[in-house]
Amino acid sequence: MNGCIFCAIVAGEAPATKIFEDDTLVAFLDIRPITRGHTLVIPKSHASDLDHLDPELGGVLFGFGHRLAKAMRRGGLAADGANLLINDGKAAFQTVHHVHLHVIPRHSGDILRFARGFVLRRPHDRDSTAAAIRSGLDRLADEEKAV
Ligand code: 5GP
Ligand code: ZN
Repeated sequence: MNGCIFCAIVAGEAPATKIFEDDTLVAFLDIRPITRGHTLVIPKSHASDLDHLDPELGGVLFGFGHRLAKAMRRGGLAADGANLLINDGKAAFQTVHHVHLHVIPRHSGDILRFARGFVLRRPHDRDSTAAAIRSGLDRLADEEKAV
């Protein structure tokens, strides 16, 4: 959609550190992360909010968020958990009106770091962070192959 920053990322017209991409979804690092590895998962097709999102696509979106949360525990980020969150609509503080699922890695006892990150929203080294998450996706795929 014209004027939508996330559509511009999908089209490759705006920069983003992409973690994953297929025909349906893109996952990329949030430009103002709360914690290192804070990732957004979006459908490639524009839907402004959950009211306009195909429910099946919503399932696919969460499915990849689930996968990312597992990858963040396994790869270089070595997370202990994750917050998965959708701000749906202006009333819920949605600021980019293209549906996105936040996947925010968490570590045990990180509450102070989390609170500081929530206020400062400073970027971390993007390349090493992306590599750490991708290594988790690779490990997950290896585990699945081994079953
Ligand atoms: P929400 O709409 O759920 O409040 O959050 C929008 C999120 O998108 C914020 O966390 C913000 O940092 C992120 N964001 C906004 N513009 C860009 C952008 O151009 N690139 C990336 N990677 N993230 C963005
Ligand atoms: Zn869009």
